[in-house]
Amino acid sequence: MSEFKTAKKRRLIKQISTAVIFPIVIVGGWFYPLLGYFIPICMVGGISIAFFRGRKWCDWYCPRGSFFDSAIGLISPGRQIPALFKSLPTRITMLVILMSVLTVQIIRYWPDPYKIGMVFVVMLTITTALALILAVIYHPRVWCCFCPIGSISNWVGKGKKPVQIDSALCINCKLCGKVCPIQVSPYKFKGNGTEKVLDGDCLKCGLCTAACPKKALKL
Ligand code: SF4
Ligand code: SF4
Repeated sequence: MSEFKTAKKRRLIKQISTAVIFPIVIVGGWFYPLLGYFIPICMVGGISIAFFRGRKWCDWYCPRGSFFDSAIGLISPGRQIPALFKSLPTRITMLVILMSVLTVQIIRYWPDPYKIGMVFVVMLTITTALALILAVIYHPRVWCCFCPIGSISNWVGKGKKPVQIDSALCINCKLCGKVCPIQVSPYKFKGNGTEKVLDGDCLKCGLCTAACPKKALKL
């Protein structure tokens, strides 16, 4: 089996191990709202990891990201993600809207732990519906481009443990960009020597490094 196929298979197994949590929380949360508290745990977990490893959380630790890659990816056309969804104004708008709604609703239902748990469940359900529509139209990871946790992780984690490209080895075949699950293009960071791939959306999944025919990438 090629190095790329092995890396892809390993990643899929890890993703499935966390993806199974997602339906439990989003469906079970409607019957047992305390499951909603899994969401703030994910928020803290994702942002904490970002300080050291960028968006590594979004690679396979995030149950929703893993579910979308491993399951929804089967029905998504995998089109080019429109630049609008990765733009700063879109990320900031989504962050402000979701955090404002969350804060207002928590204050409204304070201190009832069940109602507050349900706030998280409702928010997860609405954002997942949006993510699903975008995945079916474009790509499984469109939501991840402006997910508040992903955006914050992008900002605080940019440059943390980056993929590096050896420009002398790269033949510009662009395969690294084709296999990237969130459409980062490592070859675009080519310079005169060894350069860092400074795209904050990189999930540190290692698929590009495994796919590169010239071993020009390392993570
Ligand atoms: S896959 Fe390797 S050789 Fe091809 S463009 Fe990317 S870094 Fe360059
Ligand atoms: S740039 Fe490479 S390591 Fe980063 S997300 Fe894309 S394929 Fe994974």
